[in-house]
Amino acid sequence: MNQDIYVVIEHLRGQVAEISFVMLAGARELAKGLGGNVVAVLLGHKAQGLAGNPSAGAGQCLAADRVLSLDHPALADFTSDAYQKVLTDLIRKDQPRAVLFGSTSIGTDLASTLSIKLGLPMVSSCRSFSAGGKFVSQICGGKIMAEGDLPGPTALVTMVPGGYKAEQGQSTQSPAITQVEVPALESLRVTLASYIEPESGDVDIAKEPVLVSVGRGIQNQDNIVLAEELARALGGAVSGSRPVIDQGWLVTSRLVGKSGKSVKPKVYLALGISGAPEHVEGITNSDTIIAINTDPAAPIFGVAKYGSEIDLFDLIEVLTEKVKQSKGG
Ligand SMILES: Cc1cc2nc3c(=O)[nH]c(=O)nc-3n(C[C@H](O)[C@H](O)[C@H](O)COP(=O)(O)OP(=O)(O)OC[C@H]3O[C@@H](n4cnc5c(N)ncnc54)[C@H](O)[C@@H]3O)c2cc1C
Repeated sequence: MNQDIYVVIEHLRGQVAEISFVMLAGARELAKGLGGNVVAVLLGHKAQGLAGNPSAGAGQCLAADRVLSLDHPALADFTSDAYQKVLTDLIRKDQPRAVLFGSTSIGTDLASTLSIKLGLPMVSSCRSFSAGGKFVSQICGGKIMAEGDLPGPTALVTMVPGGYKAEQGQSTQSPAITQVEVPALESLRVTLASYIEPESGDVDIAKEPVLVSVGRGIQNQDNIVLAEELARALGGAVSGSRPVIDQGWLVTSRLVGKSGKSVKPKVYLALGISGAPEHVEGITNSDTIIAINTDPAAPIFGVAKYGSEIDLFDLIEVLTEKVKQSKGG
């Protein structure tokens, strides 16, 4: 048993997932108090390059003290079967103080099955740590923040975004990489048949600098055009809350929140959105949230930097016009 914090790096199609950097930032905070190292665990095949230059940009190395690389053709793509076998072996052998997983379909699959297999405690939906070894978990869809001492001997933790910025888990220096022997991976019950790319063509709201986001307050599909005009004037895109997508007023790729995308624009303008936890979960990485809602008690005002109780229909066209004028027509 040692005080090291292991972080299972999620990656897809040669890109490190943002949650991996968030976890590295959390691990650093935890390790500070516990006196251990931050260790990135990289499962894959010929994937070692991801440790040093994950997204082909400076400052995007994994901010870990070292990387354990577990390389095998059967680990090229995630399968629960192969990843579980390898991690079971590693955790049994090394006994770190904690192993962090993303609160994603991959991370939740792994952490929960490993918890049962290894008889280790699991902490789910963790948002942040304190240096003293405490965790804060965002439970009941974000309605309750639960705080506790990290259980032992090895805590398996799934982490949600929101507690740390991805940049905090990035470094300009490549960490040292150690190759770890992979156990036999024959007779796997599950293998990947093929990877189906999601349909593309729409804008990626996770990359837009400005989002004009509409909620049920927009009332009907005909009014979406008002938001589109404002977004165009601001140089951004339109996104929406769940009811707007469920009604078919916007396509699914524009959904923000728990079942949609986590966004990080410079400006997130929420028009007629109440601020339910499932929605807020996806906007906490925005630089500035501006809320327009006629209900002064709407929870969105709790996360917004600026807000107004004005009727969105009294604002939207006037604002579009003002933005156009300020840009010279
Ligand atoms: C498992 C699960 C996953 C979910 N995932 C998501 C998700 O990914 N994303 C998501 O968004 N939701 C998600 N939800 C749904 C979520 O709980 C809320 O129901 C939803 O976010 C509410 O959307 P809304 O704010 O647009 O609507 P409402 O809650 O109905 O709010 C509408 C708001 O508009 C305001 N308003 C009305 N008219 C005006 C006007 N003229 N001017 C200004 N303000 C006005 C009202 O005051 C109100 O606050 C999920 C729910 C569950 C259970």
